[in-house]
Amino acid sequence: MAQFGSVTERLANNHFEPDDEESHIEVDQAAARAAGVGPLLVRICPAHVYSMGEDGSIGVTHAACLECGTCLAVAPPGTLRWHYPRGGFGVTYREG
Ligand code: SF4
Repeated sequence: MAQFGSVTERLANNHFEPDDEESHIEVDQAAARAAGVGPLLVRICPAHVYSMGEDGSIGVTHAACLECGTCLAVAPPGTLRWHYPRGGFGVTYREG
């Protein structure tokens, strides 16, 4: 396994083209709060896209998204709107 480097090292080889005008991830804060999904999103996202504010709101740093779809798979219906980034934006995998 060491011959391939750590996961962190391998992820660092990826290229990100962030869309500064439009986020491809939107959280319905009221629905997410009612469902209590914030801590789960923070825990499962491999790119640490989600964060919890002191007021219980969920922060999103969409530019770091790996487009794995895990958050979409676990979020209760109506709490998250997610689509792939617009053409030309997002992650480009360079390894693996
Ligand atoms: Fe994180 Fe994957 Fe969701 Fe992107 S798609 S925000 S990397 S869990």
